[in-house]
Amino acid sequence: MAHIFCVANQKGGVGKTTTTVNLSAGLAALSQRVLMVDLDPQGNATMGSGVDKRELELSVYEVLIEGAEIAKAKVLSNWGDQPAHRLHKTYDILGASRELAAAELELVGMENREKRLKQALEKVDNDYDFVLIDCPPSLSLLTLNGLCSANGVIVPMQCEYFALEGLTDLVNTIKQVHANLNRELKIIGLLRVMFDPRVSLQVQVSDQLKAHFGDKVFNAVIPRNVRLAEAPSFGLPGVVYDPNAKGSQAFIAFAKEMVERIAKNT
Ligand code: ADP
Ligand code: MG
Repeated sequence: MAHIFCVANQKGGVGKTTTTVNLSAGLAALSQRVLMVDLDPQGNATMGSGVDKRELELSVYEVLIEGAEIAKAKVLSNWGDQPAHRLHKTYDILGASRELAAAELELVGMENREKRLKQALEKVDNDYDFVLIDCPPSLSLLTLNGLCSANGVIVPMQCEYFALEGLTDLVNTIKQVHANLNRELKIIGLLRVMFDPRVSLQVQVSDQLKAHFGDKVFNAVIPRNVRLAEAPSFGLPGVVYDPNAKGSQAFIAFAKEMVERIAKNT
């Protein structure tokens, strides 16, 4: 059975998509079978995996609204034809295109509206080791579909002053979903991203996080690294674009940590 994790944080620009894409590529590099689901109508995780969202024949929209099968809608990540990139292992993608924005409204009147992704994922559960779901920055019906499908949530966060406050909102949301919709849901861990150890406030917030959440804070720390920010413009995860960059190395370490954690708990 696949481990299904949502990458969520209701704030925008905190590194959700960067985390989803690079963890997918990192896990694939470790020979894990990965399906990445893009639940954000912006489609950044799709584009950042080398797939043109405008050319998708089937996407997560058809899966949610029309009951299309994931096995038919999935596409493969595409690293282009540069020899250095082609060597990297790929992962499957259930992509997002612009029309996903409309799904939000269309879902409202539908039966089982929070559980449509869950139902679709059940059919491919045995095909993957990991399913990683990139969520939009809001508590929408799309995000709810992600949270209802998942065994756990990975929360990327920047170590800033208001980060802890935002975290309280997210923890409450997860508690509510746990109580009402998905008894399996829990926080898998908090991932410190865009970290700069030269900023003493960031070090302080990081220490507070560890004091508060203990081993729910991942050991891996993702530094602020320009190579990670450049990679999407080439349609590549940082891990594929420049595997030796500090940020990519940190994501590879994070993927290893994830695999080790899972091995310990099962
Ligand atoms: P979200 O999905 O939460 O909105 P993104 O992953 O799109 O956040 O990240 C927001 C912006 O920050 C993007 O431009 C991305 O390239 C950049 N970014 C993310 N992580 C890093 C990092 N570790 N170092 C530098 N830039 C980063
Ligand atoms: Mg995003």
